[in-house]
Amino acid sequence: MEKVYLDSAATTQVRNEVIAKIQDCLVNCYGNPSSTHSFGRSAKTRIEKARKTIAKQLNAKPSEIIFTSGGTEADNMILRCAVRDLGVKTLITSKIEHHAVLHTAEELAEEYSLNLQFVELDEEGTPRLEHLEALLKADDSKKLVSLMHVNNEIGNMIDIDAFAQLCKEHEALFHSDTVQSVGHWEWDVQKTPVDFLTAAAHKFHGPKGVGFAYIRQDSGLRPLIFGGGQERGSRAGTESLHNIVGLEEAFILAYEHLDKERRYVSELKYYFIERLKQLFPDVKFNGASALENKSTYTLVNVCLPFSVEKAQLLLFQLDIKGIACSKGSACQSGSSAGSHVLTEVLCEEDLQKPSLRFSFSMYNTKEELDYVVDVLKEYALS
Ligand code: PMP
Repeated sequence: MEKVYLDSAATTQVRNEVIAKIQDCLVNCYGNPSSTHSFGRSAKTRIEKARKTIAKQLNAKPSEIIFTSGGTEADNMILRCAVRDLGVKTLITSKIEHHAVLHTAEELAEEYSLNLQFVELDEEGTPRLEHLEALLKADDSKKLVSLMHVNNEIGNMIDIDAFAQLCKEHEALFHSDTVQSVGHWEWDVQKTPVDFLTAAAHKFHGPKGVGFAYIRQDSGLRPLIFGGGQERGSRAGTESLHNIVGLEEAFILAYEHLDKERRYVSELKYYFIERLKQLFPDVKFNGASALENKSTYTLVNVCLPFSVEKAQLLLFQLDIKGIACSKGSACQSGSSAGSHVLTEVLCEEDLQKPSLRFSFSMYNTKEELDYVVDVLKEYALS
C-alpha cells in the first residue's frame, strides 16, 4: 500500500469538486469584491451566495456569517471582540480547548484583568455541565463561556444543546469552537441557542486559510481587524474569494453527504477499534474517543501497549510505511508536538503509555486499516 492518510482531524483532503470550483474562480472571477464594475460585482455576488448557503444550512441570517482566514482568526475575533465590546468580566472556558481559544483567553484575562475560570472535566475529559452551572451562579458579572463542541485530539463531544441552554438561562454569552464539528454535524442555531460559532473549511474537505464565524444578530461586536469596509464592516481586507467559493462547495457537499459519510466513517472507526482490540487485548482508548454518542465519529485516540522508547520510533516507522497519523500524547516525551489535552490535562499514571491519534474520512477504506493493523502487528513483534 502506497499512502494511507489517517490524519483528517489535522486537516482533510480537498474534494475534486472543490478544486474545480476554486480553479474556475481563479481563472474567471478575479475582480475585487469591493469594486463597483462588473468584475467586482460578479466577485461580490459569489461571496454573498456563499454566505447565503451557509446561513441557510445553519438556520441563520446571511448577515450573521463573517468570513475569516480560518478557525484561529474566528476564535480570536469572537473572544477578543466580545471581551472588548460587551463588558465581559468573567471568561469561562476549559483546559481541553484548542490553543486558539485557550491562549487567547489567557491573554485576554491578563489584558483586561478578567476572572478566568475553567470548567471541571469528568473522568473522560469532557467539561461537566453541573460545574458550569456553579460557575454561572457564582456571581452577577457579565460572562462569556467558550467551550468546543468536538475536541480535535481526543474526540470528546459536549451535549451542546444542554450547554447552550444553560448559558442562555443564566444570560451568559456562549461561543462554541465548532471547527471540528461544522461539516460533520447538523447545526441549527435557532434550536441550539449559541451566540457565536467558529469554523474552518479545511476540516471538511475544503481549502486551507478560510473559515467563518457565526455572530448572532445585533450582538454588538466591532471588528477585530480594521481597514476597509469589507465583510459588511465586520472584517477589513479583500476577501479570499476563491477560498470562499471553495469553502461553499465543500460545505454544500459535506451536508449533502453527511448521513452517508457519517455512517461510512463511523463504520471504519469501529472496525479499526475492533481490529486493535483483537491485536492488543489490553488496548485503551483515551478520552471518550472510543465511546459511541460521547465522541465524534471522525477520530480515535489509542493508548498503545509499547514502551516509551519503542513508541518514539513508531511514528517514523509508520511514516516510512506510508501511514500518516499523529501523536496522541506527549506524556512520554515531554515534547510539545503531541496532544496538550493528554499531557497537560489528563496526564495521569495510566497515560504514561504512548498514544496515537488516527482520524478518518470517506477517502479511507477497511483495506487501509487492515494494512495499518498489519504494520502495528509487525512492529509489536519486532
Ligand atoms: N479549533 C479547533 C478545534 C481546531 O481543531 C483547529 C485546527 N486544528 C482550530 C481551532 C484552528 O483552526 P485553523 O487551523 O483553521 O486556524
